Amino acid sequence: METYFLPLDKFVPLLLRLIEKYEVFIPTIEQERPHFHRFSSEDTSTISFEHIRTVEPVKHFLFKPIESVASFDKPLEKGIKPQAIVGIKRCDLKAIEVYDKVFLDSEFVDPFYKKRRETTILISADCPQPEPTCFCNLLGLNPWVDEGADLNVTPVRSGYVIEPLSPKGEAIIEENKIWFENTSPEDLEQREASRKKALDKLKEINPDRFKEDLYERVNVNEQKFCLSEASGCVECCGCLMCCPTCYCFLLYDEPSNERVRIWDACYYAAYARVGGGANPMPDFTSRFKNRFECKFNYFYKYHGFFACTGCGRCISGCMGKIDIRKILLKL
Ligand code: SF4
Ligand code: SF4
Ligand code: SF4
Repeated sequence: METYFLPLDKFVPLLLRLIEKYEVFIPTIEQERPHFHRFSSEDTSTISFEHIRTVEPVKHFLFKPIESVASFDKPLEKGIKPQAIVGIKRCDLKAIEVYDKVFLDSEFVDPFYKKRRETTILISADCPQPEPTCFCNLLGLNPWVDEGADLNVTPVRSGYVIEPLSPKGEAIIEENKIWFENTSPEDLEQREASRKKALDKLKEINPDRFKEDLYERVNVNEQKFCLSEASGCVECCGCLMCCPTCYCFLLYDEPSNERVRIWDACYYAAYARVGGGANPMPDFTSRFKNRFECKFNYFYKYHGFFACTGCGRCISGCMGKIDIRKILLKL
């Protein structure tokens, strides 16, 4: 695809142009970690492209932690606003691919997800400095983006190399073409050098590879193995709430006649409980195992890829110091 150069001082004007049509979210550093932050015209915060993915998963933007999905005595009014997510990383784009399979390409299409997906612009950014919890490379991803977003941004010395990756991205360039210049060979060389350095770093962090038949190994794995791996777990469910690919939800009715959907998680004791109290997964070991089977066996069998992106959120957030990579490498 064609590439463009955007000078350093033109990025904020571009964001100001975007907020005329979209709610714009940018990554900024808060308490030393990257978090998404709503951009406004009075904003003085510095956009951070050089860090890894944000602490929070991007699923919040498309699949809300809690939302009304039906109303029994009046039509449900939903004000879904167009949004632009800036600085999204390769692993989180893969997570959106997982969600697209679940909420758009299945027997039932989720109208709220569909509407948000259609009205969301994704402006991705390369990861120049992978961190020790990152393992996207073990799942076939690179720490940069060449598909799945609308525009990709790579910071270079005096500005940004911008690559449109969809018709929506091309339209943004066209509407603001006064600010975009042609890329020079030096800009592209810098981009390649930065990408190579990031990939080398990931290979150094993750020297071992998962077995080719990982999806089968997860399925036939002994309950005993899960028991020992789960022994440090305090069942906080943090790893599932921060996971960008976990998509389970629970529906309940409010006295106000609204049906509400909230995120669910397979580590909860009541996750699989049915009317009458029967529970096919009453012990934690089987629930622990379910997470691995869901992400690495069932999803792979149905869709041809794993429902894990290697983002490492479950590693950095785990109180029990459980590293999913180490479990998968043992299989
Ligand atoms: S974050 Fe760690 S301790 Fe908490 S449920 Fe997940 S594996 Fe267990
Ligand atoms: S399982 Fe862990 S590494 Fe994989 S997508 Fe979820 S949070 Fe990221
Ligand atoms: S897992 Fe890969 S794409 Fe995701 S933040 Fe880390 S280096 Fe970037």
